Amino acid sequence: VSGQAIPPRLGDRVHYVAEGSPLRDDGTQKYSSVCRAADVTEVDPASPHRVGLCVLNPLGIFFRPLEHGGSELGHAGGQWHHRH
Ligand SMILES: [Zn+2]
Repeated sequence: VSGQAIPPRLGDRVHYVAEGSPLRDDGTQKYSSVCRAADVTEVDPASPHRVGLCVLNPLGIFFRPLEHGGSELGHAGGQWHHRH
């Protein structure tokens, strides 16, 4: 999707893919990964699609700063993408 190439900016509202619950022995999950709203708090100048995020979960906020690895562009758990 061409829109995914747009670099994130500070303060953008994006989606963060929350990790689902741990895999069971049969490979299934009780809860699969799900999109959550998140605000871009940092953009890595060396890697403009790697960001720090403030993630707005329904029951609480958590931070994923660059110094803890940040979040890469994508649709897997732990990644961010533009709203859809
Ligand atoms: Zn999403």
